[in-house]
Amino acid sequence: MSSAIPSVHPGRVRVLKQALGPSDQKLVGPVVYWMFRDQRLRDNWALIHAVDQANKSNVPVAIAFNLFDQFKGAKARQFGFMLRGLQKLYFDLQERLSIPFFLFQGEAVDTIPNFLRECEASLLVTDFSPLREVRQWKDELCKRVSESVSIHEVDAHNIVPVWLASDKLEYSARTIRGKINKQLPEYLIDFPKLDPPKKEWVSSSGSVDWGDLIADVLRKGAEVPELEWCEPGEQAAMEVLMGDKKGFLTTRLKNYSSDRNNPMKPKALSGLSPYLHFGQISAQRCALEARKVRKLYPQAVDVFLEELIVRRELADNFCFYQPHYDSLQGAWEWARKTLTDHTSDKREHVYTRKQLEKAQTVDPLWNASQLEMVHYGKMHGFMRMYWAKKILEWTSGPEEAIATSIYLNDKYQIDGRDPNGYVGCMWSICGVHDQGWRERPVFGKIRYMNFAGCKRKFDVDGYIAYVKRVVGECKKRKAQALIDDTKAKLLHS
Ligand SMILES: Cc1cc2nc3c(=O)[nH]c(=O)nc-3n(C[C@H](O)[C@H](O)[C@H](O)COP(=O)(O)OP(=O)(O)OC[C@H]3O[C@@H](n4cnc5c(N)ncnc54)[C@H](O)[C@@H]3O)c2cc1C
Repeated sequence: MSSAIPSVHPGRVRVLKQALGPSDQKLVGPVVYWMFRDQRLRDNWALIHAVDQANKSNVPVAIAFNLFDQFKGAKARQFGFMLRGLQKLYFDLQERLSIPFFLFQGEAVDTIPNFLRECEASLLVTDFSPLREVRQWKDELCKRVSESVSIHEVDAHNIVPVWLASDKLEYSARTIRGKINKQLPEYLIDFPKLDPPKKEWVSSSGSVDWGDLIADVLRKGAEVPELEWCEPGEQAAMEVLMGDKKGFLTTRLKNYSSDRNNPMKPKALSGLSPYLHFGQISAQRCALEARKVRKLYPQAVDVFLEELIVRRELADNFCFYQPHYDSLQGAWEWARKTLTDHTSDKREHVYTRKQLEKAQTVDPLWNASQLEMVHYGKMHGFMRMYWAKKILEWTSGPEEAIATSIYLNDKYQIDGRDPNGYVGCMWSICGVHDQGWRERPVFGKIRYMNFAGCKRKFDVDGYIAYVKRVVGECKKRKAQALIDDTKAKLLHS
């Protein structure tokens, strides 16, 4: 397809602000794409839209990225992964698309309007996130940018744009599945090829000192160090999806439906969540590639697409339509009632947040999952449910359980601070997207999980031993890195 008109489905784009004057008039100034959630060049509808709009009016286009000092408790683990991915994107961008990349530090509500003013932009394109902070920034941007600037928001994260998948808060996967599937033929389509924009940006974007930037976030967030096993960037993401050696679709897919709930077999899972979270890969690309191999493994592909599309988009639906997506207030009436009825039930154990964080509970299985998250940075999907439910059992009440689980999840998981995380905690503790079960102490009608159930399902001792090994290796690597670092400093002193 020609670069001049790579078309983005109009349903994917929301006009947050329309500049004064007729809506179909040509843009006078450049287009700026404020990249936030979808940090990739490939398969990115927001970038495609930005370039498309720029080409239509023969104006240049740039990408702006704002690095916040703080975002929802991210540490070295998450900031490091993100910046290393962006560093690769920065060089790819220069090489492949000749689009300038401007990196700002501070508050986006200041840096983005300042930049738009400076470059006399006519259009700001942003990607979509349902999280409240991001929505507040966009509301503020609409107030702060000049009357001559339009703002377009593009859902480049979901396959069916969240506002079209459903126009209301959905009750469960059952109620949204049909709505999404009906619209897949229209939205689950291949991406057009993106070529360099027609009009070049004349001023320079200035260089970014990635080394300094990364060193700074690593120092500030040292409490939760980076991960070794998870290489950041678009290319690494594609390797995880379909690389020859360890790719999910190419080498691991066939056991997905049978083994994905077995914590002893972590490789059965795709391992895509870090890349999906930071937008280093598009879920639409994953779905398109998965469908190509459906003939070989129909069941595995169907189960994977259910998680990747229905469950993931259901999480965005929850955060988009439920303002209280991370507190008890966001639970359905039946769940709030049952949890409140049981708040004063006697708990066998009550732990402080610190005790939980340090994995100091009586339950070796729970401790193992907590340590897997703290050191390895990605807890197995099945264990996440057990982990969060135990926090409900061991804290003073549901509010504290939600706050604690979200705090730990956001701090340690490489894929944390994501709608999937808020919904995962709310599902486990508040029954969101679930149903009522037989009533019992503490949990009320919330689905219950316990150690004995896990023992019946998988090799609990094997998992504990596996985590011990993984944690040991992580600690060894950390100690070695410290020694190397000290040696290097001594050499240079
Ligand atoms: C308490 C709790 C906390 C969670 N926290 C997070 C989190 O912080 N970030 C996160 O991305 N996921 C979270 N999940 C959902 C799920 O556990 C992870 O997405 C999954 O384990 C990631 O590993 P994977 O990509 O290898 O999984 P795969 O099974 O290979 O799944 C592929 C993709 O499908 C989507 N997916 C899978 N399961 C779910 C689900 N239950 N809900 C929504 N989408 C799903 C994800 O985007 C995932 O990357 C949480 C679940 C629970 C119960």
